[in-house]
Amino acid sequence: MTLISDLFWAYLVAITLLTITPGVDTLLVMRNTGRGGLRDGCVTSVGICSGLFIHATLSALGISLLLVETAWEGFEKGQNLNKVGMKAQDTSELFFQDVKVPADKLLGSMEGQGFFQLMAELPAERLQVGLTAVAAAEAAWEWTLDYVKERKAFGKPVIAFQNTRFKMAEMKAEITAARVFCDRCLELHLEKKLDIPTAAMLKQHTTDLQCKVMDECVQLHGGYGYMWEYPIARAWADSRVQRIYAGTNEIMKEIVARSF
Ligand SMILES: Cc1cc2nc3c(=O)[nH]c(=O)nc-3n(C[C@H](O)[C@H](O)[C@H](O)COP(=O)(O)OP(=O)(O)OC[C@H]3O[C@@H](n4cnc5c(N)ncnc54)[C@H](O)[C@@H]3O)c2cc1C
Repeated sequence: MTLISDLFWAYLVAITLLTITPGVDTLLVMRNTGRGGLRDGCVTSVGICSGLFIHATLSALGISLLLVETAWEGFEKGQNLNKVGMKAQDTSELFFQDVKVPADKLLGSMEGQGFFQLMAELPAERLQVGLTAVAAAEAAWEWTLDYVKERKAFGKPVIAFQNTRFKMAEMKAEITAARVFCDRCLELHLEKKLDIPTAAMLKQHTTDLQCKVMDECVQLHGGYGYMWEYPIARAWADSRVQRIYAGTNEIMKEIVARSF
């Protein structure tokens, strides 16, 4: 059986979950004829450069995951979307119209297993988002430390103001705590013990912190912090989507709240 994680290692794949395509006549047809079809649908996804998508479909048997190749007839990529940040990442709408899907493109051995397949793999995605969040916060903190040591205001370096030192100290403590949580989740992942609520807590906590740290760091850069040529401005813009994709942070809180 092919696992989603195997595919990620083997290929550059995108995963399209946002809209579970309605009106899909795929799977029952696939079983009988060896082929199914994705009727009309549209999703937003990163990875439009990849040639392969994992696409979630819904039928009477539940959610199933299909491997869809971009070269297939009826598949179309929209234009690269004009995002606020993450400018180097390709993100586009993907359109499906009567795409014929061979039966062997069903991921896994049975139809209707998509929900369980996703539940098994999504903690790893959320861990990856959490690790990115903490790494970005650490980098922003370092850039800001360099900046406030160098920049002078009222005849002294900005780091000399108590407010700056306290802000830097607060951020350092919060980032360090988040790093410890991240590393623990990484250990759990390696032991195959990272559960869904813990991964959701990690994603929500670290990405909220990332955005808070970016905002403070922009503030400590003053006006230069708002200029694209300063890495902190780009990191600030890039950070915002971390609370939205891979499941919004509100959904993460729902997941956690349902676990107790
Ligand atoms: C740059 C980028 C890349 C993306 N890449 C991918 C990708 O590769 N693959 C993919 O499948 N998707 C991708 N997405 C889509 C992304 O996962 C969704 O945008 C995200 O899950 C939120 O869904 P939505 O936009 O429909 O928001 P909505 O669901 O419309 O949410 C709107 C607001 O309502 C809140 N809300 C919704 N439901 C609830 C609830 N039950 N309880 C409380 N609050 C709720 C949300 O938290 C949010 O604040 C990408 C999005 C972006 C911006």
